[in-house]
Amino acid sequence: MTQTIRPPEAQADGRDQLDAALLLHELRGVFGTGMTKPLAWRTAQLTGLRRMLSEQEAAFVEALDADLGKHSAESWITELGYTSNEITHVLKELKSWTRPRSAPLPLWMRPARAKVVREPLGVVLVISPWNYPVQLALAPLAGALAAGNAVVLKPSEVAPATSATLARLLPRYVDPAAVRVVEGGVPETTELLTQPWDHIFFTGNGTVGRVVLEAAARHLTPVTLELGGKSPAFVDEGVDLDTAARRIVWGKYTNAGQTCVAPDYVIATRRVLDALKPLLDKAIRDFYGEDPSQSDAYGRIVNERHFGRISRLITEEHVARGGGTDSESRYIEPTVLDGVDGDHLAMQEEIFGPILPLIEVSGVDAAVEFIGARDKPLALYVFTSRGETKRRFIRDTSSGALTFNAPLVHMGAPSLPFGGVGASGMGKYHGEESIAIFSHAKPVLDVPAKPDLLAAVYPPFTSIKETLVRRFIAPPRR
Ligand code: NAD
Repeated sequence: MTQTIRPPEAQADGRDQLDAALLLHELRGVFGTGMTKPLAWRTAQLTGLRRMLSEQEAAFVEALDADLGKHSAESWITELGYTSNEITHVLKELKSWTRPRSAPLPLWMRPARAKVVREPLGVVLVISPWNYPVQLALAPLAGALAAGNAVVLKPSEVAPATSATLARLLPRYVDPAAVRVVEGGVPETTELLTQPWDHIFFTGNGTVGRVVLEAAARHLTPVTLELGGKSPAFVDEGVDLDTAARRIVWGKYTNAGQTCVAPDYVIATRRVLDALKPLLDKAIRDFYGEDPSQSDAYGRIVNERHFGRISRLITEEHVARGGGTDSESRYIEPTVLDGVDGDHLAMQEEIFGPILPLIEVSGVDAAVEFIGARDKPLALYVFTSRGETKRRFIRDTSSGALTFNAPLVHMGAPSLPFGGVGASGMGKYHGEESIAIFSHAKPVLDVPAKPDLLAAVYPPFTSIKETLVRRFIAPPRR
């Protein structure tokens, strides 16, 4: 049986051409045997994934370095170790999360019994992006397998070394009958999207998200969209600016800014911005040295297209630090822009690169208004020590997540749902939410034949019946 389907350009050697209908048909057959449902099979898949991450760490680190210039420590923190922890958490709780749950019934339905049974959806398509190409492929894959589904994984062609590594290694660690990897780009994804999958889990930008949603609508396929957007970082008066600067720099320049939940821009009063600027500069020097191009901790932009897109956002007159670029190595210096407003080019789209605009506002009210006038962000970071500011942001803003005083870290809490709202996405995953999105919570009601209490609602209706029904089935509210 074929495990990996490769794109046409890789098929000169006669390997299989992608036929999405056939692929789905085969996997429906596999799912139909029931082999993916037992807890033992699901556990074996998760254990296999975790073993792959540990035994093949070197192969993944090499691929991530080739694709994104990631340091091995960063690869472990944000990709391998992170995903392994997520899998461990799911493995620990899997039995209790998938156990049928009994549900209470109203008095008039008794002695019937009810429970909610989580059933897998069937065959799931996972489409993943390039920026965290291991984590964002394997975390949804783990969720789909934990819920008992067969899965097709389409990694991003923009991180080709990681895509090839996943395609090569996955069949050795998970059941190749039920997990397939399709490598390729737009043509392959377009072909896959013609099919009536039982769920599509997409991570990427909103433009492609719309393509996925439209394709899924044709088959009424449920969709999870993990999208991006501009995640603001508001810095309040009176906070420890040194710590705020270090955390913002860490969140922004990790993976050279190519992180969906990176702080996209800083928003604060002029007084705070002026005090923050030298501290941002100091933190960048502390982390990456005087010349970040020489730092093995600082990544590169994934490809020329993104390099060109991000470079164009650097307007010389606004550069407060950095601004240097090198197209050959796709290096963009950690850059801070000051004096920009909401109309600046860098504020028109998600930056997704190492450029940090500073936006001046008059205070908390103006910041809340600025954020509320734009698309709902995937994450919102508020650096504050004031309870009143915290309450204001919780109550008056909407975002995928809200974290006080630290960027990125909410992703690492497996008990917290992760996902966007509005333009930043639909649906949540991680931990128990991953089981919920990849399964159907089916109510199962068992009504005994005797006594036949339903006789109370059978016609013909009499006034006595009606009184009884009104009293017991829909008693008046007191
Ligand atoms: P990408 O270009 O790798 O695209 C994602 C996937 O869509 C890939 O597998 C790609 O092959 C496929 N694709 C691309 N164009 C397509 C088309 N026209 N038709 C069908 N399929 C197509 O990744 P990207 O979209 O550039 O990723 C960056 C974006 O993803 C950013 O906006 C970022 O914020 C967001 N993101 C979100 C999360 C999250 O968890 N919410 C995580 C990472 C990235």
